[in-house]
Amino acid sequence: MSTERAEEQMPDWSAYRGVLIVVEQRDGEAKPVSWQLLGEGKKLAAKLDVPVKALVIGHGVGHLAREAGYYGADHVYWCDHPELANYRTRPYSRVVLQLIEDAKPEIVLFGATATGRDLAGAIATHLPTGLTADTTELDVEPPPSRLLLASRPAFSEKMMATILCKQYRPQMATARAGVFQSLPRNDSREAAIEEIAFRMEPADIAAEVLDFVRETGRINLEEADIIVAGGRGLGGPEPFAMLRELADTLGGVVGASRAAVDAGWIKHEHQVGQTGQTVRPKLYFAIGISGAVQHTVGMSNSEVVVAINKDAEAPIFQFAHYGIVGDLFKIVPAITEEMKRRKQ
Ligand code: FAD
Repeated sequence: MSTERAEEQMPDWSAYRGVLIVVEQRDGEAKPVSWQLLGEGKKLAAKLDVPVKALVIGHGVGHLAREAGYYGADHVYWCDHPELANYRTRPYSRVVLQLIEDAKPEIVLFGATATGRDLAGAIATHLPTGLTADTTELDVEPPPSRLLLASRPAFSEKMMATILCKQYRPQMATARAGVFQSLPRNDSREAAIEEIAFRMEPADIAAEVLDFVRETGRINLEEADIIVAGGRGLGGPEPFAMLRELADTLGGVVGASRAAVDAGWIKHEHQVGQTGQTVRPKLYFAIGISGAVQHTVGMSNSEVVVAINKDAEAPIFQFAHYGIVGDLFKIVPAITEEMKRRKQ
């Protein structure tokens, strides 16, 4: 990156310092992406020699303020109010906007979840400032420029674009779940916790939440510890039942390559990769998947990868900790049977 940028005319943003992570929670449980962002935010903050801070919003979420400290926050802002029990754009964005005005962070990061995208978009529009959506890489230029380098796939995912916000503060980004790594939870790590007031009259909140209805049967790849993924090698939709049986036996979920999704064998919500989801499970089975780069970018952060493929030269074996060369129709049932036997 060019250092000449520092000599360009930029407004004086010296009042803005620090990296802020907006923690996302539902029913008092934090989304893992929040802790992943704290881990990444800490690296950015170290390069800028500033603290990494977290903002916890909700009702009855004091435990998450402490939890944010365990995951690396130096300072935690905590806003607790009955009106904040369920996510709504207006009250939540009011809290974040107020904090940005008071604390003046130079960088604000959100998870690229449905809630994070909604909240970040509302705030960027209101301030106004720039927002890079769905980033997969984050870095900063060292002082004096202090620019956030927010990278994401662009032009139909054919290249990576690094996006800068030179003229406005704070610099904001949403980031994909599973891309960054959280610090190990350490409950001896303590953050300074600062309670902030909710300054909004209930009458100013236009929307009322009457009920939350959970969609049943929807899979959550991003938070899964075990994923059993299948590709074109399965040859049709039926063999996915075999993968589902292995996944159920191990307590995991089923993933898929785009080839399997495009063929109509399984829904897009199962797709792993550049145009699917980025995952970071403890165990990833790649079954009948060749290992195209667009697939591996979505799963290469898995802790342990087991590849099953009849082609010993398949690129997926370069990513595998354990490789089994052979016919998946023989190997998968054998693994499932053995796992069931061990569970008895
Ligand atoms: P193949 O490449 O056809 O591999 C099938 C494998 O199965 C082979 O290695 C074969 O040896 C093995 N096999 C066959 N029969 C058996 C058997 N009986 N036993 C064992 N092994 C067997 N792909 C994604 O996955 N996710 C994405 O998000 C994604 N995004 C993309 C975005 C763009 C812009 C583009 C251009 C492409 C994208 N792709 C994506 C597609 C990607 O390039 C590959 O085409 C795709 O991943 C291939 O899927 P596959 O590995 O299942 O199929």
